[in-house]
Amino acid sequence: MSFSSEAEAARLFDRLGITPGAGDLGSTSPIDGGLIGKVATASPADVAAAVGRAQAAFQHWRMVPAPRRGELVRRFGEALRAHKEPLGRLVTLECGKILSEGLGEVQEMIDICDFAVGLSRQLHGLTIATERRDHRMMETWHPLGPVGVISAFNFPVAVWAWNACLALVCGDTVVWKPSEKTPLCAAAVAAIFAGVAIEFEEAPEGLLELVQGGREAGEALADDPRVPLVSATGSTRMGRALAPRVAVRFGRTLLELGGNNAMIVAPSADLALAERAIAFAAVGTAGQRCTSLRRLIVHDDIYDHLVGRLKAIWPGLSIGNPFESGTLVGPLIDEDAVAAMQAALARAKGQGGAIQGGEPIGGCYVRPALAEMPAQSGVVIEETFAPILYILRYRTLDEAIALQNGVPQGLSSSIFTTDLREAETFLSAAGSDCGIANVNLGPSGAEIGGAFGGEKETGGGRESGSDSWRAYMRRATNVVNYGRDLPLAQGVDFDL
Ligand code: NAD
Repeated sequence: MSFSSEAEAARLFDRLGITPGAGDLGSTSPIDGGLIGKVATASPADVAAAVGRAQAAFQHWRMVPAPRRGELVRRFGEALRAHKEPLGRLVTLECGKILSEGLGEVQEMIDICDFAVGLSRQLHGLTIATERRDHRMMETWHPLGPVGVISAFNFPVAVWAWNACLALVCGDTVVWKPSEKTPLCAAAVAAIFAGVAIEFEEAPEGLLELVQGGREAGEALADDPRVPLVSATGSTRMGRALAPRVAVRFGRTLLELGGNNAMIVAPSADLALAERAIAFAAVGTAGQRCTSLRRLIVHDDIYDHLVGRLKAIWPGLSIGNPFESGTLVGPLIDEDAVAAMQAALARAKGQGGAIQGGEPIGGCYVRPALAEMPAQSGVVIEETFAPILYILRYRTLDEAIALQNGVPQGLSSSIFTTDLREAETFLSAAGSDCGIANVNLGPSGAEIGGAFGGEKETGGGRESGSDSWRAYMRRATNVVNYGRDLPLAQGVDFDL
């Protein structure tokens, strides 16, 4: 490969105005294994200091009118538009997703900025009928405090933006602990944000604090009582460790954890459409989306035809440098991920799976795998963050829905059918148990307008669109008595 990640990094740092230099945390590109930069790990004391600055900034920021806070986010969105190309390339360089997805991730940041700007004029509560004469009852939404954001490697910038843009218009400040696998994307975003904030006179220092590092830095953030909300995206294992630490101090968590997403393909499905949806959802981002398609549940009548088509398509998927146009599958994040995929395939084989593909082909590159499974158990009910598509058969819709719901995770799901009854059953209370349920499209690739998140071991959090903003604010119920009496609720008498 003539490509040099070091040379590409140097060009991008120049365009993004960052100089990652000395530090103990190195970042390597999965494209060619090159070391592309270093940053300094934050110690627990550094995290505490960052929270202190964010806490001080909050005292000021919470009193800036929300539409003015929105104006800052609007300007940030403009800066992202100006930096879309180099930032998108850096996402590709550091986490290995194909360039259109790297650029798409920055577009998602821009979209959430636009959403947050509108929202900054719509942070509203209810006025509620009261049982007491000459009284008024209402609810008010107030800023919450410094919000901790812990993010995963696979969406190194967009998921932070979902959280930060909403938190900022809600009047919160942000302390960001990005993945230790993508520290340079975070450094670039923080630099773009700082450039905007410094020009905005109502923006205090400490509005966005970046703390680099791994688990230890995340734990320091989780344990800090000055952080009322920790929004954490990553594996279920991480959420299981983090949530009790925050709960023990009565902090709140917003958890976006692992998925094990399925698609049901019914006999009436438009199979040409389904094929494309399956391929993008299963091998896009090299199977490293939380919403990647991992389980395909196919009706007996169309099984041989559809699975035959997938077996013909899979070997032709172009794998390689994610910067090259035409590449559909880039590298996995690191060699540990390659090893985890091989271990999962060995287990699948041991469970009676018939495997096609899946071989490592050097560096962090692998061939996507198809694994026809006799049953849904063992490795199939776990999330392996790699392009493995487990395939199962069904005969009745009830059986298919039971399989779809029969895993511990509950993020995303879909059905391909042209039968209205089947589609509506799938979307009903007796259908998919996931936070996202789609008809005639795959489970991956959500838009920012809807609330994003899932049930069960996915953690229950909702981010991004709809009314997810409420998680970043605290609700106060207010009652005002504008009369000359003091009537008590529930008719209680208390005459002195
Ligand atoms: P990971 O769990 O290894 O790390 C995620 C983040 O948590 C990192 O910043 C890491 O440093 C930090 N961390 C790890 N252990 C911690 C601890 N005990 N305390 C505090 N912080 C800790 O996940 P990853 O490999 O970066 O990302 C892949 C995982 O993320 C997959 O499981 C994927 O499904 C999930 N994910 C979920 C969503 C979603 O919205 N549901 C989105 C993206 C990724």
